[in-house]
Parts: sequence; C-alpha cells; structure tokens
Amino acid sequence: ERYDAVVVGAGVIGLACARALSLRGMRVCVIDKAESIGAETSSKNSEVLHAGMHYVPGSAKAKFCVEGRRKIVKYCEKKDVKWENIGKLIVARDESQMDALEAMITRAQMNDVDDLALLTSEQLTAYEKNVRGYAGVLSPSTSIVDVQELMESFRRDCVRDGRTTVALGDEVVEITRGLSKTFQVKTKSRRVISTPRLVNAAGLYAHRLCDRLLDVYDISVTPPPPLYFARGMYCELKKGYSAPFQRLVYPLPREGGLGVHFTRDVYDKCKFGPDIEWIDDIDYTMNPARVRSFYEAIREYWPGLQDGALRPAFTGIRPKLINEAGDTDEPGATTDFVFQTESQHGAVGLVHLFGFESPGLTSSLAVAEYVAD
Ligand SMILES: Cc1cc2nc3c(=O)[nH]c(=O)nc-3n(C[C@H](O)[C@H](O)[C@H](O)COP(=O)(O)OP(=O)(O)OC[C@H]3O[C@@H](n4cnc5c(N)ncnc54)[C@H](O)[C@@H]3O)c2cc1C
Repeated sequence: ERYDAVVVGAGVIGLACARALSLRGMRVCVIDKAESIGAETSSKNSEVLHAGMHYVPGSAKAKFCVEGRRKIVKYCEKKDVKWENIGKLIVARDESQMDALEAMITRAQMNDVDDLALLTSEQLTAYEKNVRGYAGVLSPSTSIVDVQELMESFRRDCVRDGRTTVALGDEVVEITRGLSKTFQVKTKSRRVISTPRLVNAAGLYAHRLCDRLLDVYDISVTPPPPLYFARGMYCELKKGYSAPFQRLVYPLPREGGLGVHFTRDVYDKCKFGPDIEWIDDIDYTMNPARVRSFYEAIREYWPGLQDGALRPAFTGIRPKLINEAGDTDEPGATTDFVFQTESQHGAVGLVHLFGFESPGLTSSLAVAEYVAD
C-alpha cells in the first residue's frame, strides 16, 4: 500500500494533523491501536480551551495555545461542534499569592491575551456566589468543548473525499526505510504501508514508537527528550450534590499542573481535578485514597464543600519531558512541546511530537498546520 502520509495515533493531535495534510490534497493513513478514536489522553482531560496565560512567553505552548484557541472556536462555530464560552476565575487564596496573580496578568499580555480582569474578593463572589478568595482574575475567553465531537468532526473531514483512511484496532510495530527513502510502516495485522511522510502522534507512546524505527536514522544522535508520566485523577460530586459554579474555577497553578480545579462540560457534568502523582509507567488505575487531599485543595476556593460529597471519576496521564524535581540539567529536559523534524534527526519527512500535555487539545489545529507546513 502507498500513502502520501502516515499518521500514527488517532488522538486529537493525530487527527488534526491528518486533517491538515488531507486538506493539502494528500492521501493519508491514520493508524491507531485502539478500537476507537481518542481512546487515550484525548478522552481523559478537562476539555478546556485555554486562553494562554499560563505558558512561558515565546514558548511553543504559548504560541500554539493562543493561535489554536482562536482556530478551534472558529472551527466549532462552522462545523456545529458543541463548545461554550463560559469563562474562568483564577482565585488567590490569600495576600501571599498576589504577586503570582499579578505576574500571570503580565505574562498573559506578553502572550497576546489581553482580556484578563483583576477582581477583588467581593467581585469574585459577585461572579460566583460560592467562591471565596482574597482576590482573583477573570479570563472571559476560556471555554469548554466536546472533545469527542471535535475529534469525530476532524475524522469526518479526513475521510470525506474517500482518499484518507482512519484505521483503528491496528498497531504500528516496526518502521524501516524502503526504496527512495520512503518509510515502510508495518502493523500488527501485517499491513505494510509505504510513505514519504510520517507523523509520530502516538502521545504517551511516542517514545516507544521511536524504538520501533529501525535504520531510519541514528537515534543516538538525536535521542527523544526524557519522558516521565504524571497521572492526574479527577473526582465528581456524588448524586444529590449540585455543581457550585457556572464558570470554571481554578486555584493558582502548582508545580507540574494547573491545580485541582472545577470544570464542567457542555452537558453540565462537573468534575474537580486533576491532581498530580508521578508514576513509573502508563497506568490509569484510580487510587481512592487520594480523594482525601481533594477536600483541602477545593476548600481553598469553595469552603462550602461538604464532607463525603466526592468520589473518584477517572484519571489521565501527562507525558512530561522533565522530572518531578524540574531538573533542567538533564539533556533535552523541557516543560514545552517538542517537535523533532528533519533539521534535528536528518530523516526527511519524519515528524515526532513529544510532550503533548495541556494545552495540547487547545493547540491541536495550530499544531496541525505547523506540522503539515
Ligand atoms: C489530565 C489531563 C488534562 C488535560 N486537560 C487539557 C485541557 O483542559 N485543555 C487542553 O488543551 N489540553 C488538555 N490536556 C492535554 C490534551 O489532552 C493532550 O495534549 C491531547 O489529548 C494529546 O493528544 P494526542 O493525540 O497527542 O495523544 P493521545 O490522545 O494519547 O493519542 C495518541 C494515540 O496514539 C495511539 N498509539 C500509540 N502508539 C501506537 C502505535 N504503536 N500504533 C498505533 N497507535 C498508537 C494511542 O492508542 C492513542 O490513541 C490534558 C491532559 C491531561 C493528561
């Protein structure tokens, strides 16, 4: 079989990349080992379209998040994908957090996010009567989206003209170099696909896919960045308890994540999380003992949370390219998204995507255009 491009991974990033390549007239084959699209990280997240104030100015995360949110909003409007511009409050617990709150506003402006408003304690409670805090910030353009619907829409765009295919339930097991520098992509079901372009959008498994590239390039010359896994658990309210807020409500970001926040989806189902637990391998097991720490974290901004109201809901796993200690001395360690292309590894037509944690969903359409270009 011959295709103009193969994309490994049918998560939100892989599907967005396949869509962008298809729109450029290419015949693309997307392959995913799962039986459905977006079965891994893309269906285990907060479903928030971030405005972009949390990321280091000049970073890939800042650039693609800000561009990506605008693109997704336009896309959802055009394609009738459910999304809602509900806004978000970020709450400073006490005076000691004011410097961090103000630094966030400055960073937002540097990232071209100029709609944040600083709020007093009274203004916070005027927006959300159950919220408590010393002060806060309103981000009016932070939104939510139905990720499953978004991915389904990307998939439909891909296969619309019948040339691109999305093959599910098949795993890429080996990639070698064929004639005229094409890649030979071999799958578990014994397909062999020849292609000049290969996108590694395997998410948590992107590094493992590198191990399956045989004789494609010298991987010791350009090794992938280091990889760590940080699991995040979400909790939901038990039956009989109602959602305390309309908008998204966040504490100030913590090391490694945005803190245990309140989100709701476009169907009004609410959740709190994710927390952060560094783990050795990909393992979505929920640890009910962790629910206890949620009460303290949530009561920072919602003291009205009653004992016994929470139960574990699900977990997602962040692919981290830096360790828990934030050790930047480790070669390749970074908090940013990483793209490895021909200029890093010398293999023409090959793009690796590493470290696509948050805001990967928000960034997907902007990342896809960059990859396709
Ligand atoms: C807890 C959590 C909360 C988040 N919240 C947000 C948020 O609110 N907003 C936001 O913008 N971002 C958020 N993110 C980030 C966002 O979810 C991810 O960036 C995005 O889903 C990554 O998509 P992906 O396509 O790269 O990976 P995935 O969705 O993991 O897709 C990779 C796919 O590759 C497939 N695969 C792997 N290896 C192979 C192989 N060898 N052969 C075939 N298929 C293979 C897998 O089956 C998988 O389906 C969050 C992430 C986490 C973990």
